[in-house]
Amino acid sequence: MKIAFIGLGNMGGPMALNIAKAGYDINVFDLDKSKAEPILAAGGVWSTSPAEVVVDADVVMTSLPGPKQLQSIALDEDNILDAMKQGSIWIDLSTNNLEVEREIRAAAEAKDISTLDAPISGGTEGAAAGSLAIYVGGKAETYEKVKDILDVIGGDVKHLGDHGAGYVAKISQVMLCYLHSVALSEALMLGIKGGVDPEIMLSIVQKSTGRSYVADRYGPPILEGSYDPGFALGLAHKDMKLTLELAKSTGTTLPMCEQVEDIYSRAVDKYGFDQNHLMAVKLLEEQNDQLLRGK
Ligand code: NAD
Repeated sequence: MKIAFIGLGNMGGPMALNIAKAGYDINVFDLDKSKAEPILAAGGVWSTSPAEVVVDADVVMTSLPGPKQLQSIALDEDNILDAMKQGSIWIDLSTNNLEVEREIRAAAEAKDISTLDAPISGGTEGAAAGSLAIYVGGKAETYEKVKDILDVIGGDVKHLGDHGAGYVAKISQVMLCYLHSVALSEALMLGIKGGVDPEIMLSIVQKSTGRSYVADRYGPPILEGSYDPGFALGLAHKDMKLTLELAKSTGTTLPMCEQVEDIYSRAVDKYGFDQNHLMAVKLLEEQNDQLLRGK
């Protein structure tokens, strides 16, 4: 089975590398060629354009920032759907919205191309280890054809139902990551301003009823001041915008998500899209004139 992989960033890079290491015939493309180096060293082949990378592929995989880039690569001039083979399958691993999913699927089906939404969870560590959670939406028979490839990059792959089900599951869980990050920073801030040592305060949270994966994984980079380089602030804000879009389209009221979206929106405006995602807590540090720092 010949694979084309587009988008070799923090998540796409390690996923494509694992597919190359598993022995698949894989061609890759990214706007930044330097990101392909590890995959080319593992036997992958560089293509010079999105159309060239997909032309012979049985399966096309995308790991792109979000709806805007997917729409552009699928529907704008020089789009990959025009170049893809009849009968091929497009698996999107990005976090995307339902509107763009429907638009792309309609254009794909008109060309006898099947689509699956297969957004991922597990961070850069999960991508490197091939242990991602993958939430799949689309036809069962399409999923069966590509299950072996998804098992190379995922440790917990679930086919959830029809098209869009994967994106809905991803958006419904990922917003908790941002709610938890903001809540963690407020707990640390309160304890530190009250005089508790920052590292002791974090260890107390990690053993409390309010403990979380976020406290374990993101507490240390907050106290170190690195704000975690594995994920961009702008992509975190995109996820919160997708949460509010999904809430609107399903008639769901989510007051906490509205507040957290506003925090990430202000952080992007102030610090920039490409900053590390935990820079969102810097707003709180500035409001309180207090850094959340260990020794
Ligand atoms: P990233 O910004 O590191 O990578 C995106 C890549 O896409 C970049 O290398 C960029 O050059 C490339 N790209 C953008 N437009 C392109 C185009 N038109 N053609 C070819 N390449 C293009 O982002 P990421 O962190 O790898 O995230 C990718 C997706 O996975 C996003 O939808 C994100 O929300 C989701 N996600 C990320 C994480 C994480 O921890 N980083 C976890 C789960 C899900």
